Amino acid sequence: MIQLDDIRKSYKTDFTNLEVLKGIDLHIKKGEFVSIMGSSGSGKSTLLNILGLLDEYNSGTYSLNGTLMKDLSQTQAAQYRNQFLGFVFQSFNLLPFKSAKENVALPLYYQKVPRKERQAKAVEYLDMVGLKDWSNHLPNQMSGGQQQRVAIARALISQPKVILADEPTGALDSKTSQEVMDIFKNVHAQGITLVIVTHEEEIAAMTDRVIRLKDGLIESQ
Ligand code: ADP
Ligand code: MG
Repeated sequence: MIQLDDIRKSYKTDFTNLEVLKGIDLHIKKGEFVSIMGSSGSGKSTLLNILGLLDEYNSGTYSLNGTLMKDLSQTQAAQYRNQFLGFVFQSFNLLPFKSAKENVALPLYYQKVPRKERQAKAVEYLDMVGLKDWSNHLPNQMSGGQQQRVAIARALISQPKVILADEPTGALDSKTSQEVMDIFKNVHAQGITLVIVTHEEEIAAMTDRVIRLKDGLIESQ
């Protein structure tokens, strides 16, 4: 599903050239549930953003679902993102003045799905994450764990092949983290490929494979 060969990425500032990824070789198979670990600043988010076509790399090759991700225009990158990828972030990134249902329905709005249809689909996906009765609540009326489950429903509604999650439990206590991980386990059971960045060993231990980043390279996987 995901194949990286010798991916390198550096950030140039006025005075320095910070090499963050120094040659990443990584293969993630379809349906795998993997975690990416590493100390703060080790390049986990950079790597995930490259996988998510949100950031560019300097050299190497990336193939997603058998297609080489090379010299993509912004539009092409957006098309691949919409077609293949779902994102979950530490800070949920929900729209504050929209209900849970409207937040989940948002990707379908951009796909020009009619209102009735997308709202019905949104409720279906909220049900899947155990939040059907919360459809009309605003994010600030929900707990962190519930908000993250709304965000997962929003990521799932466009039926992605891969879910990319950057520290999805980073802002949650251990009980709600477990709820979120239970949802991810269900997502995994549906055959979706999952890649989650975490710095918590207990979270990583719930995934099938742990990829450890150190000094710009994969230390173990
Ligand atoms: P992690 O997610 O593992 O904490 P990041 O991928 O966010 O690490 O960052 C890796 C390194 O790259 C850090 O030293 C960070 O400061 C630097 N970095 C990240 N993004 C940028 C950027 N846009 N410009 C310059 N440096 C960056
Ligand atoms: Mg990070």
